[in-house]
Amino acid sequence: FTADRIRNFSIIAHIDHGKSTLADRLLEMTGTISTRTANKQVLDKLEVERERGITVKAQTASMIYEHNGRRYLMNLIDTPGHVDFSYEVSRSLSACQGTLLLVDACQGIQAQTVANFYLAFSQDLTIIPIVNKIDLPAADPERIVQQMESAFELGAGEALMVSAKTGINTEQILPAIIERIGGPVADRSRPLKALLFDSWYDKYVGVVCLMAIKDGQLMKGDRIVSSHTENKYEVMEVGLMYPEQVPTGALYAGQVGYVVCSMKNAKEAHIGDTFYRLKQPVDPLPGFEPAKSMVFAGVYPVDTDDFSQLEESITKLTLNDASVNVQKETSLALGQGWRIGFLGTLHLDVFRQRLEQHKHACQVDGTYHLRARLVVEKDGKETIVRTPADFPSPDTMPHQRCTLQEPMVLATLIFPAEYLGPMLELCGMRRGEQKEYQYLDDNHVMVRYVLPMAEIVTDFYDELKSRSSGFASFDYEETGYQESDLVKVTGHMFVSSSSEALMAGGQMDVLLNGKPVDALATVLHRSQVQAVGRDWAKRLKNVIQRQLFEVAIQTAVGSRVIARESVPAMRKNVTAKCYGGDVTRKMKLLNKQREGKKRMKRLGSVDLPQEAFFTLMNKD
Ligand code: GDP
Ligand code: MG
Repeated sequence: FTADRIRNFSIIAHIDHGKSTLADRLLEMTGTISTRTANKQVLDKLEVERERGITVKAQTASMIYEHNGRRYLMNLIDTPGHVDFSYEVSRSLSACQGTLLLVDACQGIQAQTVANFYLAFSQDLTIIPIVNKIDLPAADPERIVQQMESAFELGAGEALMVSAKTGINTEQILPAIIERIGGPVADRSRPLKALLFDSWYDKYVGVVCLMAIKDGQLMKGDRIVSSHTENKYEVMEVGLMYPEQVPTGALYAGQVGYVVCSMKNAKEAHIGDTFYRLKQPVDPLPGFEPAKSMVFAGVYPVDTDDFSQLEESITKLTLNDASVNVQKETSLALGQGWRIGFLGTLHLDVFRQRLEQHKHACQVDGTYHLRARLVVEKDGKETIVRTPADFPSPDTMPHQRCTLQEPMVLATLIFPAEYLGPMLELCGMRRGEQKEYQYLDDNHVMVRYVLPMAEIVTDFYDELKSRSSGFASFDYEETGYQESDLVKVTGHMFVSSSSEALMAGGQMDVLLNGKPVDALATVLHRSQVQAVGRDWAKRLKNVIQRQLFEVAIQTAVGSRVIARESVPAMRKNVTAKCYGGDVTRKMKLLNKQREGKKRMKRLGSVDLPQEAFFTLMNKD
């Protein structure tokens, strides 16, 4: 197939608008899969994806289709369906020349449709609007076309009206792709230039890469080099995804296929990287960015004996996911564990779910930390604040003349007009700045806001749903960093001076000789400090067992106290009645009994069950 007989396209759609059903339908119509296996969503391979109905790892497939007596190679390049992966989406799109913009005929344009549209639009892709599910009684295709005109300035008459499920009008799709979307610009006679846009780990053959051959050709036995790492590889096998791997021995300019080379670790497969033939370097393709973690969470075994088993599972899971960043970490409160960086909170959730499938008793720190950034003004040096421990101490800050920055997103919200008030109020409360405001049709409003990522990753989505009775849809893309008034909040416990038992001289910081317990600190915007500080102090009080002496709890920013709570001392007579005899000894016995699952963490002289920390870390 020469470039003029090749079409590289993707499907972009809001979740549940029918992307997988349409992909299966196209594979079936071209005979790539049999009718019997169709409708099983061949392309959504991972278990988690099926469960959650989202595409985490994109799946790509080639088809052969005859149109006006000519045979075409049609490559459907699938994209991940969630904003956490918008960089991956943009790289997949850069392997395409066009895209099908699929919208549900009942639901209409949703936020994810808009976010994906802009990704495709900014790459100059040809966009074919498709209204899906016209078989449904509630379908209102005219209204959807009107929405597309308002939101995307797509002309009337451009849209196809189909039902991916029943097949109505789906025969119009492939001809439209051939006629409206051009073939790739590709030159076979130039030196090899290949874009890596997806990869996975296969336990039999190792790392499998998907590449779009922009120029030249790639053959089995070739020696290729990564522009990003300059690592050299030998090509063991190349071929088409049809829809499973079918070896062809060679891939030519304009084609998209899989490449198995001597790559040992999926971490070497950098999405967006350009490969060239050994000794024939080319200019790398634009748009490459190394994977960056936006959310960091701690993972700890509940039982320290499980450490090595858990480590094995984490290694296995991350083999397949080059975008996860793992570092060992030791926490005073929780022992040895890992600090793991993810692309976003969904990415974190998926990882957590996979760990659970491995049936490990582990705890994932629910108070994950966002990637904040410290920039030293003097020399522009940047430090990533991954954990509260990386936060600059107040003494060093002023000398260094540095600024703290937090990651921002451009959010799209779409909702029925009657919810306008509550929606704008919510965005305002979350430090949002309005960028766009538009009616999509008589009854639907679209707004776009720049918001701090920290304000949307926790309960924003839940709030949005409850304030709009579930009707609002929401999506976002990263837009870089903005200077921000970030502070570190810490939790402290003190044994109050009235307990003579332990006190030799006034107050004592029980957090191990003044070393703060890392699990009890977080980085926040100053406006959130009061609420979070109070909430923490209350929670701490609830989880700290009553001691033989009064314990004072404080949350603070630096030396400024935000909130206090106190846990009164256990009264000796009460305890004596219950247990009889020496209370301290009884306590010891009790504690011993709890060992195993509920290991006690002795912090100075206050005993805290490890469970207490987990309770604190995981909201509710
Ligand atoms: P995705 O999340 O975009 O991949 O959406 P799916 O392909 O998984 O489809 C979501 C749901 O919509 C499934 O229950 C499909 O059976 C259903 N669906 C998809 N296309 C149509 C259609 O044309 N008509 C009807 N009635 N249902 C459809
Ligand atoms: Mg799907």
